[in-house]
Amino acid sequence: YSTATAALEEPIKPPVSIQYDKLLINGRFVDAASGKTFPTLDPRTGEVIAHVAEGDAEDINRAVAAARKAFDEGPWPKMTAYERQKIMLRFADLVEKHNDEIAALETWDSGKPYEQCANIEIPMFVRLFRYYAGWTDKIHGLTIPGDGPHHVQTLHEPIGVVGQIIPWNFPLVMYAWKVGPALACGNTVILKTAEQTPLSALLVSKLFHEAGLPDGVLNIVPGFGPTAGGALCRHMDVDKIAFTGSTETGKIVLELSAKSNLKPVTLELGGKSPFIVCEDADVDKAVELAHFALFFNQGQCCCAGSRTFVHEKVYDEFLEKAKARALKRIVGDPFKSGIEQGPQIDTEQFEKILKYIRSGQESGATLETGGNRIGTKGYYVQPTVFSNVKDDMLIAKDEIFGPVQTVLKFNELDDVIRRANNSQYGLAAGVFTQNLDTANTLSRALRVGTVWINCFDTFDATIPFGGYKMSGIGREKGEYGLKNYLQVKAVVTALKNPAW
Ligand code: NAD
Repeated sequence: YSTATAALEEPIKPPVSIQYDKLLINGRFVDAASGKTFPTLDPRTGEVIAHVAEGDAEDINRAVAAARKAFDEGPWPKMTAYERQKIMLRFADLVEKHNDEIAALETWDSGKPYEQCANIEIPMFVRLFRYYAGWTDKIHGLTIPGDGPHHVQTLHEPIGVVGQIIPWNFPLVMYAWKVGPALACGNTVILKTAEQTPLSALLVSKLFHEAGLPDGVLNIVPGFGPTAGGALCRHMDVDKIAFTGSTETGKIVLELSAKSNLKPVTLELGGKSPFIVCEDADVDKAVELAHFALFFNQGQCCCAGSRTFVHEKVYDEFLEKAKARALKRIVGDPFKSGIEQGPQIDTEQFEKILKYIRSGQESGATLETGGNRIGTKGYYVQPTVFSNVKDDMLIAKDEIFGPVQTVLKFNELDDVIRRANNSQYGLAAGVFTQNLDTANTLSRALRVGTVWINCFDTFDATIPFGGYKMSGIGREKGEYGLKNYLQVKAVVTALKNPAW
């Protein structure tokens, strides 16, 4: 296995040190009230990187109190929009300046290839903050010609204190999608980071304060789901929750909100997205795009193209080339240049992926390549391809969240539409075709939040993203993403002289 040796080498020493490992509440780094810490691990080795303050209900109370004060008394929502914009733009500049240091920290904590962090994810982060900084002074209501002697207008106001919970697969990108629009609208935030990846959010939030963010506007509480996350969701003084993670946890978040103060909830959840290769496809290009759609980020994407439907006319050629491409995938130490795939995030995900691979074999799918771990240390998994996959197999239904491509055959367009839609999820879909009619038919018929035609994972800050069905509620990014963080107030004023 050509890529195995890279992972077996001695891990490269990360070119960064840990500076921030506490909770960030009211502009200060503080210990958890309990004094407890939890270890965050290097996915390359499973060894401890740092012990981080473990937030719990009491820390959430402190963070909510700080955010409440910063919202009710200001200055954040009371500053002019242009002042908020300048702080957000200064923050984006600072992140850009510290790009390499942040990228190294993110790679160390998450196992993502350094080049992916440095060249894709942090630039996306910066772009998103600049985009939403631009919105601050363009958020406004309407004047409405009501039927009566009234002057009618709407005010678009921030919703208040916002709780946000993010996963480990894109710690910085998820931070940007959540914090960017919330702060642009004038809200204050408590962000609970994922227990696997607490470090990068602390570093960038320090930079945010250097950029002039007032104390209490953004509070970061690392910690675990049921404790810190649960406390945030059930808090009576939190006005809104935004969550990204598994569908299972999304249901708990919604329930906790309902049982407390009915705070509105947006959810970005799991997926089992179809990637449809039509009969007219240029097979080489289709193979490359389908490979990217599934294997990007170690396969740990909510929108991964994890059901590769291939038309029977091109199926054999596609399969042979998809297998060759997976074999060529460069797996190894994510700090090394040219690495396409690093380790999975942790032992739990690693074991889960290997279990799904065994399940695929047992259920009669053909293992074309891969199927095992790489090396004996850390969480590296061989790029894996299954053929002869049937719709009712677990590997075709469940979110594997790993480097496992499942290839299914189809013949009729109507048939693939029905099968692609036959899922509890509806996050995204990829379509590969030159035929305009096929592209139009599929983009209208697929019950998903995003259809990528001859592209995949295109995530510009302007494009809304979110799910149908059990993939979520609401949209993030773009103008649509502002709606989650605004209240609409109708102001009706009686006119003394209706003629004017
Ligand atoms: P998860 O949903 O448990 O975790 C996501 C976030 O929710 C984390 O910050 C976690 O601490 C928090 N959380 C967990 N339980 C909570 C609770 N009871 N109340 C409030 N917050 C809570 O996801 P996971 O366990 O890290 O991963 C499990 C599976 O979820 C993965 O295998 C994958 O299929 C899926 N996943 C999806 C995404 C996505 O982007 N849609 C991201 C990560 C994981």
